[in-house]
Amino acid sequence: MIVQEVVPGRGRTGNARFLEEVSAATAGVSRLEMCIQCGCCGGSCPSAAEMDHTPRRLFALIRAGMRDEVLASNTPWMCVSCYHCVVRCPQGVHVVDVMYTLKSMAAHQRAYRDATAPDFSRTFVRNVEAYGRSFELGLTALHYLKHFRLRLPGMAPMGIGMMTRGRLGLRPRRIEGSDQLAAILRRAKGLEDGS
Ligand code: SF4
Ligand code: SF4
Repeated sequence: MIVQEVVPGRGRTGNARFLEEVSAATAGVSRLEMCIQCGCCGGSCPSAAEMDHTPRRLFALIRAGMRDEVLASNTPWMCVSCYHCVVRCPQGVHVVDVMYTLKSMAAHQRAYRDATAPDFSRTFVRNVEAYGRSFELGLTALHYLKHFRLRLPGMAPMGIGMMTRGRLGLRPRRIEGSDQLAAILRRAKGLEDGS
């Protein structure tokens, strides 16, 4: 793999532009350009076995300007925001923030290879926009109907058990002040769109 460095003052290559684009879209400072490819992030990551690229490799792909491969990767979607990598990174790279940036870019461009996790996120966000919180029964049912239909009957005993113990509501419950939350979310979307 060709890994092209960003060389200040020598103009920006197409490769460097993708790294800059990801950095610029990340809240605060990403420090992505400081990555030294040590692999501490992947070595600390509880989800690494499920990822098609370790975080270290994903950052090398970003630096190499491999936009399509990066945005199609399941790595950001497998990240559970545990922050192990952030704590251990010797360069202070804001790995989790970069993962959120990549999810946002992939979702906007529908560039992901597997829609399972992005669909789950969309349904979750719709729940929060509508009720101010997640509606677990609706979220789970919709997700399984769309992606794991054959597995749905097997989930029923657990769902019924949770309902009888009061851990799963039959109907969504709206939080107090959901109008204020909706206004905050609208404003956040506006900021993201640059309006
Ligand atoms: S731990 Fe930090 S410096 Fe090392 S590969 Fe991961 S992001 Fe790069
Ligand atoms: S924050 Fe994400 S990438 Fe980092 S160790 Fe946890 S799951 Fe892995």
